[in-house]
Amino acid sequence: MEPLLTWAGNRAYAGTLVHPGSLDEAADVVARSRHVRALGSRHGFNDAADSQGALVSLDRLAYRHPGSRTGPDDLTGGPEPRLDPATGHVWVPAATRYADLALFLADHGRTLPNFASLPHITVAGAVVTATHGSGTGNPVLAASVVGLDLLLADGTERRLHRDTDGDVLDGATVSLGALGLVHGVTLATVPAFDVAQTVYGPLPLAGLVEAFDEVSALGYSVSCFTTLRGPDVETVWVKRLADEGMPEEVLGAKALTSPVHPIPGVDPANCTPQGGVPGPAADRLPHFRAEGMPSAGAEIQCEYLVPREEARAALRALAGLARPLAGLLQVCEVRSVAADRAWLSPMHDQPCVAVHLTLVRDVERVAAVLPLVEAAFAPLGGRPHWGKVSAADPARVRGLYPRRADFLDLARTLDPGRKFTNAFVRRWVG
Ligand SMILES: Cc1cc2nc3c(=O)[nH]c(=O)nc-3n(C[C@H](O)[C@H](O)[C@H](O)COP(=O)(O)OP(=O)(O)OC[C@H]3O[C@@H](n4cnc5c(N)ncnc54)[C@H](O)[C@@H]3O)c2cc1C
Repeated sequence: MEPLLTWAGNRAYAGTLVHPGSLDEAADVVARSRHVRALGSRHGFNDAADSQGALVSLDRLAYRHPGSRTGPDDLTGGPEPRLDPATGHVWVPAATRYADLALFLADHGRTLPNFASLPHITVAGAVVTATHGSGTGNPVLAASVVGLDLLLADGTERRLHRDTDGDVLDGATVSLGALGLVHGVTLATVPAFDVAQTVYGPLPLAGLVEAFDEVSALGYSVSCFTTLRGPDVETVWVKRLADEGMPEEVLGAKALTSPVHPIPGVDPANCTPQGGVPGPAADRLPHFRAEGMPSAGAEIQCEYLVPREEARAALRALAGLARPLAGLLQVCEVRSVAADRAWLSPMHDQPCVAVHLTLVRDVERVAAVLPLVEAAFAPLGGRPHWGKVSAADPARVRGLYPRRADFLDLARTLDPGRKFTNAFVRRWVG
């Protein structure tokens, strides 16, 4: 049988894949298995989902909007989300992709405050790994969570809610999947809003280093892309609320008049509309359209979240990686992420600059360069993204999370036998 690979094809999953057709079936699998992990849409790049036993995909319980644009696949059949008009909170099956949730919310005049670069990922997979978009005022996607429905180790259900569990919910959102199977998520939504995105470039990386705060503040969401092949940042993507107008230029760089892909030279057909054309936030804040392939496909991603006060140093460290990354880097994206309260969020209590590398899909050559990336960002307190690869020192990383002990207590309470703990969780959390 063909091994089950990550979306990018950079590694095979360990574990026996099961697709329960109902919550009862899922509960049964969990109760009967010694080791369990959940699998989302497989957009992670590391061993976070690996299981010594069952690998449970809740895809058959995911909601799929009738107008779904994510293409033919097996994510079907789950119950409709439920929107509470009084609170604006929406309950959604956890394996639902953001693209489908966004369509459902649009039908009701609502949306989410932010999105990742792609809407193809599952809500649960994004929440538990602290997936983020960009924006100095925008925290991780998990910050919208007001409730979580967990299937615990014995197959029973446990609902955590902000109103009843308070701080504990901050421990349970970015959980790396270590507390149980998340089968439902309740999210705070906002009234639908329109965004326009305009791409500028090129501009000197040295200029961006000096003016990073000003450039980051130019929009609701700002992303800077560089290949480090020359002295320039090739493009800066500014996403503003539709009624705010667009800057004339960014550090002297004019708005581009034709669409571009973040990776120079790649066909931009799969990118969301640019050129300042306003549209729903869900169709502008992600860089990639739901119906197309995001990014490069054949790639490996590595990312460090560096405390915001070290942003300039992080950009200088990035520039210093130009030579070691030559021939390996497809593109680097620099974003801003606001602070949040989740215990295991890299942005816990501190805003960060996110330095993301899209590397070629060459496992050995990428592994060889990762220690240099760690050496560049570790002295700045950089935390590796939970869904991507790194050669970070686990002891260093464990020391960066002040609520780690509280998280381990919560894991012992909710999962006394540590059924949901795998090598990934042991390595990074304990
Ligand atoms: C092209 C591309 C672009 C990306 N862009 C961004 C970006 O803009 N910002 C960003 O921060 N990240 C980004 N990522 C990374 C991605 O968001 C994360 O890796 C995310 O975890 C992927 O979600 P998934 O549904 O594919 O989860 P998977 O990769 O399938 O699983 C990830 C983790 O979630 C756990 N999990 C999944 N479902 C459940 C569940 N129901 N219950 C409990 N645990 C569960 C798994 O066990 C595993 O530990 C990108 C990845 C790709 C491939």
